[in-house]
Amino acid sequence: MRTPLMAVVKADGYGHGLVEAGRAAREGGAEWLGVASADEALALRAAGDTGRLLAWLIMPSEPAEELIAADIDVTAYTIADLEKFAAAGDALGSIPRVQLKIDTGLSRGGSSFAEWTNMVARARILEAEGAIRVTGIWSHFASSEDPDDPANESQEKVFAEALAIAADAGLRPEVRHLANSAGALLRPGARFDLVRVGIATYGIDPAPGVGGSPWPELGLVPAMTVRAELAMVKQIEAGAGVSYNHTWVAEEPTTVGVVPAGYAEGIQRSAGNRAEVWVDGARRPVRGTVCMDQVVIDLGSDEVEPGSEVVLWGTGADGEPTAQDWAEASGTIAYEVVTRIGGRMKRRHV
Ligand code: PLP
Repeated sequence: MRTPLMAVVKADGYGHGLVEAGRAAREGGAEWLGVASADEALALRAAGDTGRLLAWLIMPSEPAEELIAADIDVTAYTIADLEKFAAAGDALGSIPRVQLKIDTGLSRGGSSFAEWTNMVARARILEAEGAIRVTGIWSHFASSEDPDDPANESQEKVFAEALAIAADAGLRPEVRHLANSAGALLRPGARFDLVRVGIATYGIDPAPGVGGSPWPELGLVPAMTVRAELAMVKQIEAGAGVSYNHTWVAEEPTTVGVVPAGYAEGIQRSAGNRAEVWVDGARRPVRGTVCMDQVVIDLGSDEVEPGSEVVLWGTGADGEPTAQDWAEASGTIAYEVVTRIGGRMKRRHV
């Protein structure tokens, strides 16, 4: 049976565009969208999204009226949040849809287990008074991409206990949810009523090296391709140092190309001398430091025209590097590689 899906489109749709990612997810059948901030949720509404939408990082100083009026499910971490949402609903003459977050072991947002009994008791009273409706109870994994990490089982256990306490208090939420992409794929028992899928929505393997490369049965294809036009091609002499601080020195006469994208566009600076790009049907190494707006690549002795297309990362289907390759080259995760994309980079959605 298919579990309903919340596509997580926070952080500008993981760098792919908030509104476009939301639209594509809805077209693909996502019943819910999930975002962190109030601004992200309101931007989706302003762009015409009318479906179920959850926001989970609403600041204590942020008024909730606009979110509630826009029919957004809001997340409560504390009793103070519950009171704020209830007061906002009262002012609007409507009943806010509130989801309760329990911290099952990430030690990030959400009610601590010690506070949980009080939290659900207060939520139940507010619900009985018609001041809020508890639509969901949820939590978030710390290490779901590592199936051997005992934290997964421990979090599932705490979540089950939290659900039982809530049920005893009389709460009957519409959705209980715990799993992100890797959790949904690797721990079917953690799917509950809804899975919150971020990275896999964008075609990126959420657990590189665990599921097989990359989850052939799912057919994940990375959605983002980062392209540039080769700004310049030139010869450098043996002994020439390349880019800031000359962290690479040509051992022989070499053709280098200048790619007009750098860390201001979100290209990882730590990928200098490690990553590769794709030009004219071949992988070409990045030489020297990644600059603010330029990267130097090694074209060996090939004749490549200025103006040629450079693919920094893409689907990998033809052999071009992927965001995962860039992540490995820069000592980070593909999430960071794609969410950083921005600055002067122009986006085209196809
Ligand atoms: N749920 C929450 C609360 C998140 O913060 C995130 C992203 O970090 C997700 C779900 C989606 O995670 P993933 O991209 O691993 O699927």
